[in-house]
Amino acid sequence: MTDAAVSIRDLEVHYALGRTFFGKPPVLKAVAGITLDIPRGSFFGLVGESGSGKTTLGRATLAAAPISVGQITVRTAHGETFDVGRLDRETEKHFRRRAQLIFQDPYAALSPRMTVRDIIAEPLEVMKLCKSREEVNERVREIAEKCRLNVEHLRRFPHAFSGGQRQRISIARALVTNPDYIVADESVAALDVSIQADILNLLKQLQRDLGLTFLFISHDLSVVAHTCDHVAVMYLGRIVETAPPRRLFATPRHPYTRALISAIPSLDPDDRGRAERLDGEIPSPANPPSGCAFHTRCPMARDRCRIETPELRLMADGHRAACHFSEDLAPATPAAVPQTVTG
Ligand code: SF4
Repeated sequence: MTDAAVSIRDLEVHYALGRTFFGKPPVLKAVAGITLDIPRGSFFGLVGESGSGKTTLGRATLAAAPISVGQITVRTAHGETFDVGRLDRETEKHFRRRAQLIFQDPYAALSPRMTVRDIIAEPLEVMKLCKSREEVNERVREIAEKCRLNVEHLRRFPHAFSGGQRQRISIARALVTNPDYIVADESVAALDVSIQADILNLLKQLQRDLGLTFLFISHDLSVVAHTCDHVAVMYLGRIVETAPPRRLFATPRHPYTRALISAIPSLDPDDRGRAERLDGEIPSPANPPSGCAFHTRCPMARDRCRIETPELRLMADGHRAACHFSEDLAPATPAAVPQTVTG
């Protein structure tokens, strides 16, 4: 059995849509039917379009979204086990120390009125994790160096830094409490491409050095492919495919994954125009299509797809895919597979 840092079982996250005087208000299922293990020490990628439920799923694992049905268990390398939906005040304090979020926007995430030292130190002070100011300063210096920040940077304010440096400050703040599990939600999306690689390399280095488990959320499959050990693709609140990235790119088993791969821009002029078009917008989770939720956009949809919801099933090649006709999918065009894909 894999040593799962995060175990998700039959998860559903519901939000009530407004109020009614009679009966129950309608419910939006932002996430439904998710069962997933995130192995300890892995860099686990979660991809999908905006509105696919990936951020809600990530936040549910941090006790920041309601667990309406199912269970999430986080087990740390320190021997602690947290039932995320049932944290009391005391266990929640410990949990917040061990499970952290790195925000998307390094410009909005940092208070402009605080020095970098104070921004990084704040979680230590709020959680009272150090006995003295000297101990706080020592820990701040240690984590700043790990995140490739100079000690002189600690006295400055965030406006003095570039986007990449600000994201390193955000990462240092997330890591200062010595967490085990990190959710990085679109953490490089707001950065220039050249800076993205620098931050991704830093995250991978920190993962290896500190033995962290990452849930890396992105709308960009090419970024996930270069970084992650394993990938799960989400569509309208459900996981539709999971596999290691090399296999996912070579033989996608879900038409949605195939369309995402095909949409990755290629430098080869012969490949241009080969992308499979994904027509229309992702439907509203408040009113999802019947049967397979992808059938309104799927080029392979048949009558069965409109009636019967496909299960996420294990295929002979080790993928899990939620499509009635996975076996009929042709391999991806070789040109669509990024050259440096991992896994
Ligand atoms: Fe397309 Fe049908 Fe497969 Fe859904 S089940 S992805 S609609 S072929």
